[in-house]
Amino acid sequence: MVRLPFKVDVKNPDGTEEEQNLYADAKCSICGGEPNAMWGGREPIFVCRTCALEILPRLIADAIIDDYRNYEHFLIYRRKAKTSFLEGVTKALHE
Ligand SMILES: [Zn+2]
Repeated sequence: MVRLPFKVDVKNPDGTEEEQNLYADAKCSICGGEPNAMWGGREPIFVCRTCALEILPRLIADAIIDDYRNYEHFLIYRRKAKTSFLEGVTKALHE
């Protein structure tokens, strides 16, 4: 997971350095807006804050819906999702 903008120092052939935004032209993979984060899977996925809050949770629900109606499984998935979210927040705060 990469929070955007993602800037790195690049050394020019003349020895000077400049800061470059590696994903300056990237768009949110869902809505086409300005992304706030990137997941570097097989193909990079860019996501904006709005889609992260409003679309991705629904996508996750769809991905687990077959077991979702089983209440015991629902409790396990909810705990796993909450733990993953909190681990992500903790990691992002310490980067
Ligand atoms: Zn978006």
